[in-house]
Amino acid sequence: MSPLVRAPRPSAPTHRCAGICAPSRSSKIRTVLVACLTVASVIGALAGCSGKEKTTKPTRAPLVIFALDGLEWRVMKPLLDAGKLPVMAGLMERGAYGYLSSMQPTYSAVIWTSIATGKVPEKHGIHHFVYEEAVNGKKAYRYYTSGHRRTKALWNILGDHGLVSHTIGWWMTYPAEPVNGTMVSQTNTTGVLHNPQVALWKGSLIKGVDGQVYPPDRQNRVMDLLAEVDANLDGVEKDLFGTPANPVDEFSQMMWDQTEWSFRADATYVRVARDLLEAQPDFDVLSLYIGGTDVAAHRFWRYAHPEQFTHPPNPKQIENFGRIIEDHYRYADRVMGEILQLVPGAAVIILSDHGMHAVNMDNEFKKDDPPIETTSAHHLDAPPGVIIAAGGPFTSAGSAWNAKHELDLTLLPRLGSVLDVLPTILAVKGIPIGEDMDGSPMRAILDFGKTGISEIRYVPTHDDAKWLAGQTARIRHGVDESERIEQLRSLGYIK
Ligand SMILES: [Zn+2]
Repeated sequence: MSPLVRAPRPSAPTHRCAGICAPSRSSKIRTVLVACLTVASVIGALAGCSGKEKTTKPTRAPLVIFALDGLEWRVMKPLLDAGKLPVMAGLMERGAYGYLSSMQPTYSAVIWTSIATGKVPEKHGIHHFVYEEAVNGKKAYRYYTSGHRRTKALWNILGDHGLVSHTIGWWMTYPAEPVNGTMVSQTNTTGVLHNPQVALWKGSLIKGVDGQVYPPDRQNRVMDLLAEVDANLDGVEKDLFGTPANPVDEFSQMMWDQTEWSFRADATYVRVARDLLEAQPDFDVLSLYIGGTDVAAHRFWRYAHPEQFTHPPNPKQIENFGRIIEDHYRYADRVMGEILQLVPGAAVIILSDHGMHAVNMDNEFKKDDPPIETTSAHHLDAPPGVIIAAGGPFTSAGSAWNAKHELDLTLLPRLGSVLDVLPTILAVKGIPIGEDMDGSPMRAILDFGKTGISEIRYVPTHDDAKWLAGQTARIRHGVDESERIEQLRSLGYIK
């Protein structure tokens, strides 16, 4: 039997799902909407399936994936209503959009790996930021690296089918893997930080560390761009966030210091993406990760929503920092628009790994509190994230705008889960889905008439023993690992 022949879809294993999976009045509305959309899509699918011709070649139309950590509809709504996110609004206008269910544990390292593999952590092997190992008879924590992943990801599968992918800043990509295209890692170290009070979660690019870029001969160019961003960082931040109107208190300064590195990382990845597109404009899938949407919300939620807290910041602190989250969302919107201008006609997916909400509402938020107590928003209960898909094979069905042209969050449908993202991408690219994946294509966002594919195909798996053996050789202990382990300990994530 040919591996490309359609196979019956295996029943999906259960995964821990939270947020909008719980029944509620609004979820009923969403369920009805999803059902309507799905019926429309199935009709489209049936129409598409009626022809005898089968597509056997992958589809060569560019797809841009913007991976925005922690992007939250409730933050976006007032900005969309006020016309402050024009790029996202434009994509919503001509595309499909709604909630993307998240999962637990709601750690970005785990979820972004599930998004890239279509599999639960038990299968992909990344369970946390760190794992335990006996070193000289003593228990020690080690960072997960790309070599710990036990199954192929989007970029591996695309390459196997002759498609070119550029992956920039995605979680758990250090050391960079050999791909048909380019990979710029999110390097999981603290090389940029020297303050033990700083709570660092995400990696970034680090000067002087090998293996962060594939192909390796591109690493020097990427490091030059990092240096360029560093040299201009103050100016970029002033442009983005302005200058505080009032003297900055110690606590707020600490919040800013714990956030600034993520703007540096985002500015670098965006710069690298633009450079890459100018040098190598032909690609099949470009994936760009932006993390500041998550980090800014963790640190500055209380300044943007003081009414939710027993001990809100004072008016001068709010005047200084009340718009940091908004400013970063607007920054993300603007840079997505700039990148899309370089690839006119590309299909686009914007997605987040989870949403975000207030926490620690009764805390006093003192400078010497442990970092886990000074964050004013979090997502450990897996609030649903965002998906917007437009252009190419994506449908424009569905609208959650009311008569006043305001977004009605109760009308947003649940379009799928983080596990459904990879099967959806493979479906639109005409690549078979692995039967061992835990998600399914999000039919509600697909217009089968536009995909150019006549059926969704499956293979038992995309994995093979040779590839897996190569993975083990990529396991590497991160630079400055002990320093970062201490930070995780101080945040209460490990003991
Ligand atoms: Zn987070």
